[in-house]
Amino acid sequence: MTDSHSPNRPTTERLGRRALLRNGTLVLGAAALPVAALPAADGDARVRIGLVTDLHYADKPPAGTRHYRETLAKLAEATAAFKREGIDCLVELGDLIDAAETVETEQRYLRTINRTFSAICDDRHYVLGNHCVDTLKKEEFLGSVGQSDSYYSFDRNGVHFVVLDSCFRADGQPYGRKNFQWTDANVPQDELDWLQEDLAGTDNPTIIFAHQRLDVSNNHGVKNNADVRKILESSGKVLAVFQGHSHQNDLNEIEGIHYCTLVAMVEGSGEENNGYSTMEIQRDGTIHVKGFRKQAQREFA
Ligand SMILES: [Zn+2]
Repeated sequence: MTDSHSPNRPTTERLGRRALLRNGTLVLGAAALPVAALPAADGDARVRIGLVTDLHYADKPPAGTRHYRETLAKLAEATAAFKREGIDCLVELGDLIDAAETVETEQRYLRTINRTFSAICDDRHYVLGNHCVDTLKKEEFLGSVGQSDSYYSFDRNGVHFVVLDSCFRADGQPYGRKNFQWTDANVPQDELDWLQEDLAGTDNPTIIFAHQRLDVSNNHGVKNNADVRKILESSGKVLAVFQGHSHQNDLNEIEGIHYCTLVAMVEGSGEENNGYSTMEIQRDGTIHVKGFRKQAQREFA
């Protein structure tokens, strides 16, 4: 991970990509959101991010619709697309691996998938999913991928990004060693306080990355997500939340903030069932999600 800004790519390259992107793009109503003004910059795309979620890599046979071993080939295809498109940084939105019975086996799954994932981009970010810390403890997962914190923020080209961790039980205990129910996802008070302070400290428009959903109150939702949303809304800086966990495309808008749920890479067999995307934040605050395979195209502002 680096904190340096990526160099701008030529404008013509970007325009070509944008023209392609607009064909078949779902256009959604713009919300009047009091976001910080974006400073002038060359080119339309300020930042382009590679996004994947719910890879569930494991060296075990398929179960139901989940084809664990095929994730390696699907991620290889995504790697080629990210190289072609050019990305400034790479984010996985959780459930990078699937559960195993032992720490050693889970670590082996993690080493295998991270060999491919970490070769894509030096500037990469891992959101903890419930399956990432089923047997492993958080510090074991993070230690293996070389990330120091489970929640933190960073800035790239005038955009603020926040990685959240909802892998806590209602009593505040962090997930690990099979000590939790997957439906008991919470953002503890310490993290809420940190989030409020972090958002108060930035003047940049902000994107949130989460695993469990912040927009629904069913089993896939963070139990106290109304508290999280209140902080996001009152900051006036958050453009969108990108999340995974429920494995299907979805998009909601609540109080001017877009909650975009990305499709899971592990679902279904064969390359046609892959799913990944690049996400661009434009100078005017418009967000484009260029979806590949099962991932929906999105455009909102
Ligand atoms: Zn998952």
